[in-house]
This record gives sequence, C-alpha cells and structure tokens, in this order.
Amino acid sequence: MTGLTPCPESVEGLGVDRKSVLVVEDERDIAQLLKLHLSEFCNEVVIANNGYDALSVAEARRWNLIILDLGLPGIGGLEICRRLREGMHYTPVLMLTARAAEADRIRGLDIGADDYVTKPFSLQELVARVRAIFRRCAALQAHQGAVASSVIQHGGLSIDLDTRQVDVDGRVVELTAREFDLLVHFARHSGRVYTRAQLLDQVWGYGHDGYEHTVNSHINRLRSKIEPDPPRPRYILTVWGVGYRFGDATLLRQRPQDVQHALN
Ligand code: CA
Repeated sequence: MTGLTPCPESVEGLGVDRKSVLVVEDERDIAQLLKLHLSEFCNEVVIANNGYDALSVAEARRWNLIILDLGLPGIGGLEICRRLREGMHYTPVLMLTARAAEADRIRGLDIGADDYVTKPFSLQELVARVRAIFRRCAALQAHQGAVASSVIQHGGLSIDLDTRQVDVDGRVVELTAREFDLLVHFARHSGRVYTRAQLLDQVWGYGHDGYEHTVNSHINRLRSKIEPDPPRPRYILTVWGVGYRFGDATLLRQRPQDVQHALN
C-alpha cells in the first residue's frame, strides 16, 4: 500500500458543499483512494496522472480545488502551481509532498499553494484539510458577497443598501426614500451619464409626472445633503446639455461614449 490510512468517518453531513476537485497524482492507487473518499462530498472528482494532462485539464475550466502531487512525470507540480497562479482565476491548491522535501513545500507555498500534506498521509487528515479549504473559501465568498451586495463605497460616501443609511465622511445623512433611490441608481452606475428623462423612467418609474424639473429639484436637495460643497459637487456632476453623472469630473473627458450613449 501507499502509506494511506483509511478515513474513519464519512464526511457526509459535515456541512461541506458539494464541489469539483481535480486530483493530480501519478500513483494510481493513491489517486483512486482520494477519488473514492472525496466523492463522498464532492460531486465531481477527476484524476490526472501526469503533468501535461493536469495542466490542460486544470486550465480548461474552473475547479473548486486542485490536489497536486509535486513529483509528476511531464511537468512538475511546482511548475503547474506557478502557471495556475499566472492565470485569471484563483483555484485553491493543496500540495502532496514527500516528508523530506521541505524546500519544495516552502517553494510551493511561496508560489501560491494554499496548504499541503506530506506523504505518507492519513485520509482523515487530507479530508480535514480539504474541508478547511472549502470553509475558508465559503467564508471569503460570503464576506465578499455581503460587502458587494450591501454597501457601496465611493470616496467618503458610504451607502448601506440593507439599512438604507448614507454616511458622508463619517456623518449620517438623512435622505428621503426618493433621494436614496436616486443616489443608489447613480452610485450603481458610476461614470454613466443620464438624461433627466432617463432618470424619471428608471428611478421614478411609470408613475412619474413627466416633469424634468422634478429631477433638478431632487438633485439639488441631494447635493445639499451629501456634497461637502454643493455649488461645486464632488459626487453628482452636471453634464451640461445632457444631464448628470456620478463620479469624478475628470473621467467624463476620457469617456465621451457615455455622453453619446445618453443621447442615443
Ligand atoms: Ca508522484
């Protein structure tokens, strides 16, 4: 046998989401044992037995985890890890290393591997490390999702979509429901120019009165509440002859297509 010890517990019911895993291992009995145990909580486990296959399979699609033996025929595991880290997508990598190969482990972690286990290893330990990587990824995604979905930050302006609270330079600003909706619409499309008619359609909706001065008056009130210097607005900018945009005035000169888009 290979030094693997049986996993004494099933991982079913341990709260690990079902995942896709690529196992890169040239020792076929180890690869099959890993597949057998990972398949209990991963909906897809694919084996690659050499470095060439591993790289092409790894880069062909997204994986939730790559378990990567370092000693491989063809391209070595360290080189595979290095190339993966040059790619656009981040995929967690768990290295399998020889106990004596400390330099390779350190190099692998420096290159960007997330964790390692040394051979011979127990399946219990490997499964625990896989679960830990999945938990860290899930926590990170949840955090990023929460930040992305609930708070829009722009300079000193902070908009909490859940609580509908707006802060400017740490000071809470009281907005009406319409002012808040207008600000969120701008902030979600930072840099885009809107005509008053577009704002009426998209923020006020079909029930609006159709008067563009309604937009002017709301923007004036909004500016008086959120702009540090309302006559020279920092956040909601006037685009003369067109309408308004949210963001940095210098960008407008670089993005004439925004103006054209608004006019179309
Ligand atoms: Ca090997």
